[in-house]
Parts: sequence; C-alpha cells; structure tokens
Amino acid sequence: MHAEVIAIGDEITSGQCLDTNTQWLSQQLEGLGIRVLYHTTVGDELMPCAEVFRLAIARADVVVATGGLGPTADDLTREALAEATGHPLQLDTDALDHVRTMFAQRNRPMAASNERQAMFPTGSRVVRNPHGTAPGICTDVVREGRGPCRFFCLPGVPGEMIEMWQESVAPAIAEFLGEGRRVIRRRLIHCFGAGESQVEAMLPDLIRRGRQPSVGITASKGAITLRITAEGATEEECLAAIAPVEATIRQCLGTLVVGAEDGP
Ligand code: ATP
Ligand code: MG
Repeated sequence: MHAEVIAIGDEITSGQCLDTNTQWLSQQLEGLGIRVLYHTTVGDELMPCAEVFRLAIARADVVVATGGLGPTADDLTREALAEATGHPLQLDTDALDHVRTMFAQRNRPMAASNERQAMFPTGSRVVRNPHGTAPGICTDVVREGRGPCRFFCLPGVPGEMIEMWQESVAPAIAEFLGEGRRVIRRRLIHCFGAGESQVEAMLPDLIRRGRQPSVGITASKGAITLRITAEGATEEECLAAIAPVEATIRQCLGTLVVGAEDGP
C-alpha cells in the first residue's frame, strides 16, 4: 500500500505560499502505517489537475489532495475529480444545506457560485467541514485487477484541513487499511567526523535499495544522519528489526556515532 499527497493551487506552484499541507499530511499518513511514495504539486488548471489525479489513482492506493475546493472559478478540484474518475457531478442536498447554514451563521449573503461547493462526483461521500463552507470529498475509485483507490479532497486552508483529517479522514483511512494495516518506525543515528561516502564505505551493504529495514543517509551541516526505517505488523516487530541494524552501525562506525533518537 502506498499513498500520494497532492497540493493544488497557483499560490503553491508560483512559490508564493509554502506547501506545509503536504508535509503535515505525509507525517500523518506515515503515522497510520502507510508509506508516502509521491508528492505532486499542480496549478489551478482543469486538465493538468485531472491528469495528476488519474496518475495518482493508478499508482497510489490512498490519495489525499488539498486546495481548490472553494467557490471561485479557479477552484477546479471537484471538476477535475469528476473528469479523472468519469463520475459526473451531482448536487448533494445535505451539503447544500451545510453551505447555506455556514453563510446564515455568519450573516453573509450566499453567492450562487457557492452552490458549486455542494456538487459531488456520483458515488462519492461528503467529508464534513465543521468550520468552513467547503465540504471535502471521499471517493473509492474502482481499478481493474486490484483493490480500489481511496481518494480524499480537502480544502487548502490548513486549519480546516487538519480538523477534517482528525475528525473523518484518519478514521476512514484506518478502516480502509483494515487487517492489512502496517506500522512504520524510524531510528536516526547521528554521526560526525567522516564524510558521506566514507561512512557508506564503512557499512557492510546496509545502504542497499530494497533492503528491509532500509537505511538512508543524509548529510547536513557537516553531520551525517543514518535513517533506519522498518515496516511491520506491530511496533514490536519494527523495533526488533531496527535493533540489530543499529548495533551493526554502532559497531562499524564506533566513535563516529554521536547520538541516536527515534525519528519522524
Ligand atoms: P476555500 O474554501 O477557502 O477557497 P480552498 O480549498 O479553495 O478553500 P485554496 O483557495 O486553494 O483552498 O487555499 C486557501 C488558502 O489556504 C491559501 O491562500 C493558502 O494560504 C492556504 N493553502 C492552500 N494550500 C496550501 C498548502 N498546500 N499548504 C499550506 N497552505 C495552503
Ligand atoms: Mg480557494
């Protein structure tokens, strides 16, 4: 099982706004035991968004997209999802009531364009947005020869996105993963006093691709961090897989190891 996170909006692709939603969502997805394999960022254009959605449905089992659910003409997420899945938009009367209520509570007139926020691709479910006008979308997309892809669209506003994740999305993903739910744990080993390639050469075949648990290496400000990542059915299984790898690293690098911690 793999996940993809998609950030939608010209404010992101232009560099005007930093995409913190993707970082936050990736940490949450890994916390649920699902590895995030792809991050995609796309501007506010219908066909490019639909193309990105189609690709995500083909290569990821869980997709979480943020942005573009607002009422304005540049908010195209719902149309793009309808285009990518072939499920046309239809009005959801409960969602329309919600949008109307939000405007009434704020004593603001509702523009006709806000009715668009109650349009959902057929077969999808509404994700409640307690503090915003734009409800989110959850839909299972059928794929030939394998299980469905569960696709979520959430608003770009971080506060609304986080609240909806906690209230609805995280439980819906946990339910989707069901028995196949996995756990991911990381251990960071900090080293100092040798270069990246020197450290790699001192480790016996640990930084090989496809190895379980995997060992990654990153250099930052003269220090080297080895990141051990284990995936398993339980936390105990992960920790048991990490321990001998950490022991080997400590044995091979000796005093170059200056610290270790559990990592994100
Ligand atoms: P709304 O109903 O408010 O229009 P929306 O789903 O259309 O919601 P956007 O218009 O795409 O959301 O974004 C609203 C604001 O949320 C942006 O101006 C930006 O400040 C913030 N935002 C959007 N996407 C991200 C992101 N990926 N990371 C951090 N902030 C974001
Ligand atoms: Mg918007």
